[in-house]
Amino acid sequence: MAKPNKKGPTKTVNIFCKNCSYQLYKYRKGGKGALIKCFKERIVEDFTNTACICPQCEKEFARDMLIKGTPAFKFIGGKVWFK
Ligand SMILES: [Zn+2]
Repeated sequence: MAKPNKKGPTKTVNIFCKNCSYQLYKYRKGGKGALIKCFKERIVEDFTNTACICPQCEKEFARDMLIKGTPAFKFIGGKVWFK
């Protein structure tokens, strides 16, 4: 059986603002489960104008931070959804 490439997640998800359903990012998400944070290097497309602010409803949906030295956005609970 062929082994999957382990270099990184290749599956992309679309991340939306919970408040207005505006698409914020296209993101290569690893693993299953809840979306708590996203690493900037895995963002495929960024639809925001200002980091962590929804361009449509202008609500803050995440915090800019470092996770183990890697730049990332940590989502504020309940502010985003993905599919
Ligand atoms: Zn919004």
